Amino acid sequence: TPLKKIAVVTGSNKGIGYAIVKGLCEKYDGLVYLTARDVGRGEAAVKKLNELGFKPLFHQLDITSKESIKKLRDDIVREHGGIDLLINNAAIAYKTDATEPFGEQAENTIKVNYFATLEVCNVLFPILRQNARVINLSSSAGRLSRIPSSDIRDKFKDSKLTVPKLNELMQEFVRLAKEGADISNTWGNSTYVVSKVGLSALTFIQQREFDAETPSRNISVNCCHPGYVDTDMTSHKGPLTVEEGARSSLYLALENHGLKGKFVWEDCSLIE
Ligand code: NDP
Repeated sequence: TPLKKIAVVTGSNKGIGYAIVKGLCEKYDGLVYLTARDVGRGEAAVKKLNELGFKPLFHQLDITSKESIKKLRDDIVREHGGIDLLINNAAIAYKTDATEPFGEQAENTIKVNYFATLEVCNVLFPILRQNARVINLSSSAGRLSRIPSSDIRDKFKDSKLTVPKLNELMQEFVRLAKEGADISNTWGNSTYVVSKVGLSALTFIQQREFDAETPSRNISVNCCHPGYVDTDMTSHKGPLTVEEGARSSLYLALENHGLKGKFVWEDCSLIE
């Protein structure tokens, strides 16, 4: 019997990630891992899906813990051999009224949304199988136009940008934020924007690197904007349901149409 395809969705105990798992349980021809940093919250989500007749698998995954990511990798390698679909959904966003100092918000937001997601990729990319798909949940906030300075935009746009150089850019932003520098006309005042601009840029670099791989595994990496969605992250202010928010991710996961290194909008159209 042929190997079953394996899908992994990060941060899927609630919100859009949960709806992505639900959609994959309905339509993906393979096994789907719901993952959560907290086992109790993860198992509760699995139970909810079981009550709807869906049977996702569960694995603990805290994307900020290299040990946790490696444990997931090792268990998947042992039980299934590899991964066919990786959806990087887990992220954080400080509320506008958060009282933590800006530098601390910058450090944590970049750490989780950018560096931890990168770590997930670094550990799991080697076990991606032929024709695997990777989807990074960016945001409308992850469009380059959200960065005020054209000099900084040019650095992100550089077609020769590498991951180490992008890491430096992210670290530079955190450093300035912690110094209390005035960055309103350069980086802008949103740590979330910078984290998602970084994730979008990472997506394009990752696709270039896969394209240069020999032998080619024919892997695609795309990012998407889910729309403004009714979740804890938005304090339930977004008008879209989580199922609607999962649409662009599910489009890239299930239909895809050969898209590589693209940014897909909430209505599944392509944007620059
Ligand atoms: P939620 O805050 O509702 O859910 C976020 C999920 O990520 C939770 O399961 C959370 O787990 C998990 N998570 C956070 N940190 C970690 C970690 N270190 N390790 C593992 N999991 C973690 O967010 P949404 O569903 O709204 O957002 C999903 C994605 O969509 C995010 O990438 C977000 O940036 C993006 N997005 C959302 C928009 C919206 O309108 N909602 C708009 C644009 C983009 P826990 O329950 O343990 O906290």
